[in-house]
Amino acid sequence: MAKILVVEDERDLRQVLEFNLRHAGHQVILAATGGEGLALAHEHAPDLVLLDLMLPDISGTEVCRTLKDDTRTRAVPIVMVTARGEEIDRVVGFELGAEDYIVKPFSVRELLLRVQAILRRGRRESRAGTGVVEFGVLRVDREAHRVWVAGVEIELTALEFKLLLTLYERRDRVQSRAALLDDVWGIQADITTRTVDTHVKRLREKLDSARDYIETVRGVGYRFVGTAGEAAP
Ligand code: CA
Repeated sequence: MAKILVVEDERDLRQVLEFNLRHAGHQVILAATGGEGLALAHEHAPDLVLLDLMLPDISGTEVCRTLKDDTRTRAVPIVMVTARGEEIDRVVGFELGAEDYIVKPFSVRELLLRVQAILRRGRRESRAGTGVVEFGVLRVDREAHRVWVAGVEIELTALEFKLLLTLYERRDRVQSRAALLDDVWGIQADITTRTVDTHVKRLREKLDSARDYIETVRGVGYRFVGTAGEAAP
């Protein structure tokens, strides 16, 4: 059971979502505008936000940006709800750090499955916050800041270590350059995103046989593979 904030200006759709999410055992908070959504997100600290892209006051992308810029709400996963054909906005959604998107009209069943998957992933990650990570040929000691590839220790800078862990912790999800800049470098994305490319390139070189665990997602950013077997041999 989770607390889910639905930001949707279409009344009928809001009701359908409310009904089905409640039926699935979730607590539902409803907002009809972007402004209301932001206020309720701060007030209720939801576990997940379903965010419509086209809202009457503030656009969904702006709401997403605001939530991801705020340390109190940054970790809350956001699923963008877009109308068919809003191709650019899909990418923008990822650029802004949305976890997933779903295209209208969608089946409620599909939406519920996506929501469950994201919530499960979140719970798994909060359990696995410390200690030693073993992933394929890669071994990372979070506390000692040490990394081994196929049993051989490699030297990473503090920044490369943070970049590796950030990608690993969100594995199987695309991380935009802007989001990485913000989370790893701790700055807003107004310095060149090429910085990210340079560091990922260097990190991959050092990772040697584990290099393919980090994939380039053309035009968007990077993704740590979901399982070690997915990486190119
Ligand atoms: Ca709308």
